[in-house]
Amino acid sequence: MKVDSNTVLYGLIGHPVSHSISPLIHNLSFEYFNINSIYTVFDVTPENLENAVKGLKSLGIKGINVTVPHKENVIKYLDYISEEAKLIGAVNTIINSDGILKGYNTDYMGFLESISENNEVLKERDILLIGAGGAAKAILIALAKNDVNSITILNRDVQKAEVLAKTLEKDFNLKIEVYPLQDAEKLNNIDMIINATSVGMAPDFEKSPVSENVVKKANFVYDVIYNPEKTILLKYAERNNIKYQNGFSMVINQAYHSFKLWTGKNFDKNLVYKHIQK
Ligand code: NDP
Repeated sequence: MKVDSNTVLYGLIGHPVSHSISPLIHNLSFEYFNINSIYTVFDVTPENLENAVKGLKSLGIKGINVTVPHKENVIKYLDYISEEAKLIGAVNTIINSDGILKGYNTDYMGFLESISENNEVLKERDILLIGAGGAAKAILIALAKNDVNSITILNRDVQKAEVLAKTLEKDFNLKIEVYPLQDAEKLNNIDMIINATSVGMAPDFEKSPVSENVVKKANFVYDVIYNPEKTILLKYAERNNIKYQNGFSMVINQAYHSFKLWTGKNFDKNLVYKHIQK
C-alpha cells in the first residue's frame, strides 16, 4: 500500500474499536481498485464525539463508519441524514462531501442481504428479536418493510423496547409484542430468532441471551455477533439441528454499501470473504 501526500483518509469511530475487521475489508478494496486511500480506526470516547466529528471537516477525512456507542448521538452533528437513517434513528456511515457531513445507515441493507445470502426469507415469518439498541432498530425496519407475519421483541430494558415498538407501530401498520428478557421461556410461536444484543460477545461470550429451551422452538437462529464465530446461542441451535447464521455476512454487506457510498464502486464480496477468513 502506497501512502503519500495525496492519500485520502477514511476510518471508523467508536469506543472500543480495536476488534474491528473494517480496516481489513476497506483497505483490501482500496488496493483492489487502485484507489489512493487508507482506512483506519479512531477510538473516540463519548465526551470527544463532537470534536471528533468537527475534526472530520477540518482534516478533510472523506468517509467514516460509526459504531457503538455513537450511532445515535452522532446524528446531531451531521448536516444531512438519509430517510432510512432517520427512520432507524442511527447512522453508521458518514460521507464528507466538501465539508457537508451526510449520514446513512448501511446496517439495514447489510442485514437484508445477509439473510438472503443464507437463502432465508423474512416474508410471513414469526420473528423473535432480542435487543432494542442500534442494530435491533436497523433490523426492525428491515422486518417491518419485508412483510413478516409477527414481531416479538425481548429486551433487558423493556421500556426502551416499548418506545421503539410504539414508534414503529405508528410508522408501519404493525402490531409488535414486547416482553422483558426474563420472560423468554413463556413465549411460543417462534419461527426465527434474531439476537441483536451484545450478549455472547466478549466479555459476555459464555452467555446466551435466551436458554436452549427457547432456541429449540425455532427453525432458524441468527446472531448479529460474528466474533466469536459461534456464540453460545448458535451452539444451542447447532446441537439441536436448527439452521443458524452469525453476523459475518452482515458486516461484509454493510461495509459493501459504505464503500459504494464513498467510492461509487462495488467491491468483490467473495474476495473479501476469502481474505478475512484467511
Ligand atoms: P447497543 O449498545 O445500541 O445495544 C445493545 C443491546 O444489547 C441492547 O438491547 C442492550 O439491552 C443489550 N444488552 C447489552 N448487554 C446486555 C446484557 N448483559 N444483558 C442483556 N442485554 C444486554 O449496541 P448495538 O445494537 O449497536 O450492537 C449490538 C450487537 O450487534 C453488538 O454485539 C454489535 O457488535 C453487533 N452488531 C453487528 C453488526 C454486524 O454487521 N454483524 C452491525 C451492528 C452491530 P438494554 O437495552 O437493556 O441495555
